[in-house]
Amino acid sequence: MKKLTGIAASPGIAYGKAFLYVEDSFAGITRYSIREDQIEGELRRLEEASARAAAEMRELYERARSEMGQEQAAIVSAHLMMLEDEEYLEQIRNRLRANLENIEWVIRDHSLEMARLLSGAADPYLRERSADITDVSRRLIQALLPVKRLALSDLEEDVILVAHDLLPSELLSAPQGRIKGIVMDAGSRTSHTAILAQSFGIPAVLGLSSVTKEIAPGDTVAVDGIAGEVALNPAERTLSRYRAASSRYQKNLEGLLSSRELPAETKDGYRVRLEANIEAPEEAAQALRFGAEGIGLYRSEFLFLRPGESAEEETQYRAYSQVIEMMAGRPVTIRTIDLGGDKVNPLLRDSGEKNPLLGWRAIRFCFSHPELFKTQLRAILRASANGKVNIMFPMISGVEDLEKALALLEEAKGECRKRRQSFDERIEAGTMIEVPSAALTADILAKKSAFFSIGTNDLIQYTVAADRGNERVNYLAQPSHPAVLRLLKMIIQAAHARGIRAAMCGELAGDIKAAPLLLGLGLDEFSMNAALIPQIKGVIRETTLSACKDLAERALACETGREATALVNAWFAANPSGAV
Ligand code: PEP
Ligand code: MG
Repeated sequence: MKKLTGIAASPGIAYGKAFLYVEDSFAGITRYSIREDQIEGELRRLEEASARAAAEMRELYERARSEMGQEQAAIVSAHLMMLEDEEYLEQIRNRLRANLENIEWVIRDHSLEMARLLSGAADPYLRERSADITDVSRRLIQALLPVKRLALSDLEEDVILVAHDLLPSELLSAPQGRIKGIVMDAGSRTSHTAILAQSFGIPAVLGLSSVTKEIAPGDTVAVDGIAGEVALNPAERTLSRYRAASSRYQKNLEGLLSSRELPAETKDGYRVRLEANIEAPEEAAQALRFGAEGIGLYRSEFLFLRPGESAEEETQYRAYSQVIEMMAGRPVTIRTIDLGGDKVNPLLRDSGEKNPLLGWRAIRFCFSHPELFKTQLRAILRASANGKVNIMFPMISGVEDLEKALALLEEAKGECRKRRQSFDERIEAGTMIEVPSAALTADILAKKSAFFSIGTNDLIQYTVAADRGNERVNYLAQPSHPAVLRLLKMIIQAAHARGIRAAMCGELAGDIKAAPLLLGLGLDEFSMNAALIPQIKGVIRETTLSACKDLAERALACETGREATALVNAWFAANPSGAV
């Protein structure tokens, strides 16, 4: 048996026969030259194919809407928009006129070039969009070809899908229920494939680099989407362990999902709030499905990263209002633009930063673009008239940053008043604590913040000085490092001393093993990937605050992260909780 470890992208456990899906997107397309007098004919073929492909996409959209859900429909709708995008079609037409090649070849070349460009982008969101452009181009080419290719829609048995980089529309086209698990060379937790896998409840392990080379068709594959592990051809004994774990997981999940309406409360009555992190408005549906009590982090910068979107005030207002309406009275915390670092849009592309993660990022970037910032603040303010909204500022490094951000918020309020645009006058503005200098001055920041939200992804990387995206130094980024635990304690205490709530929206909030520790440290709100909410709730409901406080105290006394981790592991072994 061979075991591979990748990114745990969608929880659950599955096993079955491998279906290797390693189709070359553009195999079988030949290139031939055309004469100038044939250009018109090729352009006509393009128009007809684009209309046919759009009709197919519309059908798929209707199916997604009625059978699947809003998120899936939104992905198809985005592809449909791309397919009908005049700029995209014009680029293909121009290329055809310049290169005098058959239209299939022109689309293929254009798609490969765009995908290459996007996949080299520093921003992970843009990198993932390269799959979207390949998907759309492939559909267009298929509409041009006389014979249809074999697709996932032809699957007739249950399989574990093994792919290099599965496209969202391919996953959508597979018959519901046939795909039991997904393993992929590419992909990350934020890729659309991961989002879809979670919403279908399909366990997935992504980012395995070369899994398509390790697995042969028909191999038995076990997928553990919780641990991020894949077992190839496991022995019968191991397989039966996976079987047992899978049915345990299913049973637990049903129990946990049915506990959706139950409070996240410990046995001794300590109540916390569990909320969801989202990057796009359509993810709010997923948040509700898993019982989120609100949106604890809406990463609004993703609105500014979608290719071709200008994110004007009205676009933003609509996006924020959509989330607020869907959440029906539950609070929505909108984080102001956190561009920069690894999230680069055209405004930042040529900034020539030597150390982007330590540079012109988030609130610092907004201070250099006050109009852009105030436009966003006005959009958020106006949306606050439609429901409960909180504003949150990222990468605050000290009270001067916060004062400046609050002053700009006041200016934006003034502008709204002048324009007679209503907003919630009691809107709360909180501070993300994700820079060590903010953590160390949390007592000062608490005086001017309505709440704190701890961004552990950044806080940990800056505390141990290890780039969160660099796998070579990743071992240093231990949440249980004494420095991190001390900072967490300091932040939460500073919040409570001023009577404000301490939330957390970094990945640590969705880490089952961290939950008792965070409860013990006094965290009030946990915001995470929605699919993790049931398990975290399970852990909380199975424990007591006093046991957690005791654990936190002992963890704080540890001299190394490893020691604290061992302590937590021993605690879990001694306190079998609702965790699956
Ligand atoms: C964080 O840093 O923990 C956080 C939630 O923000 P982001 O991951 O978007 O940087
Ligand atoms: Mg951050």
